[in-house]
Amino acid sequence: MPIDFAARLNPAQLEAVTATEGPVLVIAGAGSGKTRTLVYRLARLVSQGVEPSSILLLTFTRKAAAEMLARAERLLGMALGGVQGGTFHAFSFATLRRNPEASGHAGSLTIMDRGDAEEALSHVIAELGAGKGDKSFPKKGFVLELISKSRNKELPIPEILSRESYQLLPHAAALEEIARGFERYKRGHGLLDYDDMLFTLEQALTRDAALLERLRERHRYLMVDEYQDTNLVQARLVKLLAGERGNVMAVGDDAQSIYAFRGANVENILSFPRIYPGTRVVRLEQNYRSTQPILDLTNAVLRQAKDRFDKNLFSERLAGPKPEVVKAYSDQTQAQLAVRRIRELRREHLPCEIAVLFRAGYQSYALELALNKEGVPFQKYGGLRFSEAAHVKDAVAFLRVVHNPRDVVAWKRVLVLVDKVGEKTALKIAASAREGDFQALDAQRRKNPGLDALFSFLEELRADPGGPASLLERAVVFYTPTLTRLHPEDYPRRLAGLEQLSQIAASYAHLEAFLADLALENPEEERKGVREDAVVLSTVHSAKGLEWPAVLILDLVDERFPSRHALARPEDLEEERRLLYVACTRAKDSLTLYVPGTVYNRAGGGSQPAMPSLFVRELPRECFTELRETFSGGLTPALQAQAAAEPRPSWDAPSSGGSRFASRGVAARQPLAADPDDPRAEPGGSPFASASDACGTGAMSY
Ligand code: ATP
Ligand code: MG
Repeated sequence: MPIDFAARLNPAQLEAVTATEGPVLVIAGAGSGKTRTLVYRLARLVSQGVEPSSILLLTFTRKAAAEMLARAERLLGMALGGVQGGTFHAFSFATLRRNPEASGHAGSLTIMDRGDAEEALSHVIAELGAGKGDKSFPKKGFVLELISKSRNKELPIPEILSRESYQLLPHAAALEEIARGFERYKRGHGLLDYDDMLFTLEQALTRDAALLERLRERHRYLMVDEYQDTNLVQARLVKLLAGERGNVMAVGDDAQSIYAFRGANVENILSFPRIYPGTRVVRLEQNYRSTQPILDLTNAVLRQAKDRFDKNLFSERLAGPKPEVVKAYSDQTQAQLAVRRIRELRREHLPCEIAVLFRAGYQSYALELALNKEGVPFQKYGGLRFSEAAHVKDAVAFLRVVHNPRDVVAWKRVLVLVDKVGEKTALKIAASAREGDFQALDAQRRKNPGLDALFSFLEELRADPGGPASLLERAVVFYTPTLTRLHPEDYPRRLAGLEQLSQIAASYAHLEAFLADLALENPEEERKGVREDAVVLSTVHSAKGLEWPAVLILDLVDERFPSRHALARPEDLEEERRLLYVACTRAKDSLTLYVPGTVYNRAGGGSQPAMPSLFVRELPRECFTELRETFSGGLTPALQAQAAAEPRPSWDAPSSGGSRFASRGVAARQPLAADPDDPRAEPGGSPFASASDACGTGAMSY
């Protein structure tokens, strides 16, 4: 049965869906149906006879691409296996792999994840002797980010430094030298980092006209979701692939640009009509996701932004509860309150319809414990990846060495596992292996039986004709004695993790694809799919594009959301504001924001008073209901609490600057809870009063 597009889309969406030739830009706010428009356009193209394999769908995760395809398949009632879809990085790597001659790299390529890149960088830094003994020299994590930012923003290192960290300018020359050394190192060892994939593909496409022509022929229809978070090279790749035909549809929301910190360039979406002459620009205003009370709050978040976003979303879903702002005593009790709230929500919702969002992965730890205690299953997105755990990296390193004998990072990993092999020896051996110096290797082998065993094992592994799963199983068997020696306390858990990894490996036919996905995607997360019985915990970045009936957001206090770093730089603060906009716009029916009065500070030790987030302080009073934690761990409307409390001087949100610190001073003088786990156990005085003071909001005034 033909799909009745007009009945399922509003007129603006329909326009974007039916404009299948030439460039189209859909620029619109959250929940206005941008992704839906992409899905319907995909379905329409296919229903009109376009070959699925000529469609390329670029999104921010492979999971998102798979989800869009699944939706289009349901609409059409047919499989769309041929559609190419995924991230820019995965697309680039797959293209380079299929065209090895174009990539300019001889031999096998290995993708480095963040940990590998840090490892490689420390080697370069040590070799150059950069910043030795100089305490003011930045740490390698910072250097890595700096190099990546300089590449993604396509600005020289000194310029990035003068914009963001001018105190490091005296080190600019040394840092540039490190960046050059890092390039040489990667090239020499057949290693690619994430950024390289995009740049290498771009070089290949500009150098090799025949390849470019082939790709243009193949991908006749391009579609890109979340275009506001593309960087310069990604935009150029799209342009290259689109060619003269210009069949590109980009959709996005400039107000949701949240990756500038990694070099994304919101100008890409704003200048799209200029770069693609004749672009049809479609704007969508109606939000189909959230109730109006939720939109009133999200619109208010945007109104405070320094950049003007000409968006004022409206919904036809007028009824619904106002968002709640919950003042908890501490981040510990915040977790208890969140669990309670989840329990309440469970009466109406499946667990998978409830999501708890936070700025950084560590912020859900207390909640994870509380949920475990209650026996509530949860599924976490973002934060530390499974494939970054040390034992997973160890086991995979055997496969990497077999795949790419020049992969010195992996060599080092497997070598230091051998008894009596230190870092220096490991590097020496890795160098001999890379250069094929078998005499040197044999000499080492004779000296150390552990090394002999390792080399024999690697030879066997190389000769194994099986797929990735078979190789991995052998590697795990070889690695298990080391694992039990290194992790006597929890090796069973780690072994179970490796077992899981083997199951993932079983779905791959080629070692290279398995290794690439481990570094690039999160096959474990994808494999899990959506579990109906699990509540979702997610970083805000990983929640982009998604939606849930009920959303809880944790830790809305200064230095957490916005982060401390962002409070110091206006541009970063704006990005955090957009991040909050992204977080709040995930909610369909109910939204709860948590503001703990104290937070545990790992660096400072113990609990410290926290200031309600600047973003919450700026919200107009009428767009939320405020609740406070009570003595017994329940909630009470804030107004009642206020009436009971002594009137205190209030601070006024918009003039934050000074008052922020003034009220913090007051808060710091208040006695703090003796036990951060249980502020209610505080001796003497009303814990209620002390907690509310710690919030810096004695009388509610925002
Ligand atoms: P985000 O900016 O968060 O990615 P989006 O603009 O991509 O949001 P979608 O996810 O496509 O928005 O749509 C939000 C919700 O609204 C989805 O549940 C979608 O099915 C629904 N929706 C969108 N357009 C319509 C429509 N015309 N009729 C009914 N429902 C719609
Ligand atoms: Mg979307």
